[in-house]
Amino acid sequence: MFAKNNLIDIYNKYREKKLAHAYLVETNNLTQLTEDLKLLIKVINCPEEYHESCQNCNLCNLIDKNNLPSLITINPDGAMIKKNQIEELKKAFETKPIYSKYNIYIINNAEKLNSSSANAMLKFIEEPTDGIIGFFLTNNKDIIIPTIKSRCQCIVVNYESEDLCQKYNLTEEELKNNIIIINDYLNKIANQELINNKELILTKYPERKNLEILFKLIFEVYYNAFLKKLNKKYNEKLLSSININESIQQIIPKLNIITKFLQDLSYNVNMELLLDKFVIEMRD
Ligand SMILES: [Zn+2]
Repeated sequence: MFAKNNLIDIYNKYREKKLAHAYLVETNNLTQLTEDLKLLIKVINCPEEYHESCQNCNLCNLIDKNNLPSLITINPDGAMIKKNQIEELKKAFETKPIYSKYNIYIINNAEKLNSSSANAMLKFIEEPTDGIIGFFLTNNKDIIIPTIKSRCQCIVVNYESEDLCQKYNLTEEELKNNIIIINDYLNKIANQELINNKELILTKYPERKNLEILFKLIFEVYYNAFLKKLNKKYNEKLLSSININESIQQIIPKLNIITKFLQDLSYNVNMELLLDKFVIEMRD
């Protein structure tokens, strides 16, 4: 469920009813960790037995929309996390949660707690209240104020950026299928006069979410081809299955076209028209 990382340990502790009150999580990818953490928080709170796409439950919906009152994320306010941010958090968690089992707070960039905010925090984690769980996230646990660090359970969640399966939450098989489709699609765009996007893409990707992943992978293909041209480290595995024989000057506008496509896709647009436009632009 958590793509081979240590968050599974926390899940197991939850199953054993041995959750800690505060976790310090060190990671090399805060964005990805935040996503995975959200999933973990759904799993331990979902009143239904959580399944991959729990949609009928109010709680999972609220978490997706960042609207759950019992889940509070604190980001640095300027260069630091300020004391009043912690005071507000404490106030918010004086009452028991209504929808979820736990009140959960996430401190992003926990190394930005200064001595007064850490101090305010300390009173909170020294006498932990049942039903409150904290996650302190950081890129470097060595620079966390020791008094915080010593009161947290430390775990490390690192991601391999090259692992596309992990990045896009795909199985090896799904990734392989996507690559085959991309290869075929790019070839047809380059060599075939008429492109039937409905047949080539939309019947295979009726859901916007999956279509988005497909195009993110197309972006990866061109981006890695770009890195290769610059003699930088690139994903060799990906480019071993797809051959991009274009110059940097040809690749850059394509990266822009794909980025624009992904932006447009997030609006409620006609997908077939959008794909037709994409094909025309890629050929220019
Ligand atoms: Zn749910």
